[in-house]
Amino acid sequence: AVRAVQVHKAYGSLHVLKGVDLTVAPGTVTVMLGPSGSGKSTFLRLINQLETLTGGSIEVDGELIGYRHVTKNGRDMLQTLDDREIAAQRAKLGMVFQRFNLFPHMTALENVMEAPIHVKGMKKAEARELAMAELERVGLGERAGHYPAELSGGQQQRVAIARALAMKPDIMLFDEPTSALDPELVGEVLNVMRSLADEGMTMIVVTHEIGFAREVADQIVFMADGVVVEKGGPEIIDNPTEPRFKDFLQHVL
Ligand code: ATP
Ligand code: MG
Repeated sequence: AVRAVQVHKAYGSLHVLKGVDLTVAPGTVTVMLGPSGSGKSTFLRLINQLETLTGGSIEVDGELIGYRHVTKNGRDMLQTLDDREIAAQRAKLGMVFQRFNLFPHMTALENVMEAPIHVKGMKKAEARELAMAELERVGLGERAGHYPAELSGGQQQRVAIARALAMKPDIMLFDEPTSALDPELVGEVLNVMRSLADEGMTMIVVTHEIGFAREVADQIVFMADGVVVEKGGPEIIDNPTEPRFKDFLQHVL
């Protein structure tokens, strides 16, 4: 589960997130919608600790990220976690970006094996078996020995998903995973995400794929200008209340 409370993020004088509250229950899919620059990527990057908060708090699986509460002279204070502790928290999250960022000199299988070996210290043989299983899970068992350049964009993105899954995350974060793909390749990636959702994976997905949102999301969050403007079940897509959400939907549909 993820629980964000009054999350703020500023880059210098640019206030990007202005008090975002969001709860994602275990085994549910949250789709985040919103115009460019509304702060969607920033929010995902905060959950994954690629950025640090300037206000508020985020809990992942009931644990405060980045900090711990300590009592000093009878007062409650926040202490920053060390790198090892932050790495342990980050290991609970898998993230998939718009650009797949696979290692070009490694096969699909080697790309998926990389983190289990180098981050978790897994034995090669075990990592190979795990990676193969994850590639099969995304429908790419047959392509394991191919290099990224020999794969379509959709296949590369599925390898990127397998690579994240190989770390056995509790939660998957997707930041516009299909935006860089040719239209005919979008479906295969969304299908993999849909099957993950069916398996009960907890997911936060930033996407403009409204059909996917309507079918797969348990919760829709519409962000604009650094705040959550409207939030609800998938039915709000067809019955938006807030004018800004209505306007946004008219432009993407
Ligand atoms: P898009 O739909 O275009 O991906 P987004 O909703 O993901 O947009 P963010 O990428 O979170 O938006 O950006 C929100 C705002 O924060 C933008 O104005 C952006 O320019 C700014 N921003 C993001 N990252 C940084 C950074 N590292 N330094 C300064 N400003 C940043
Ligand atoms: Mg973004």
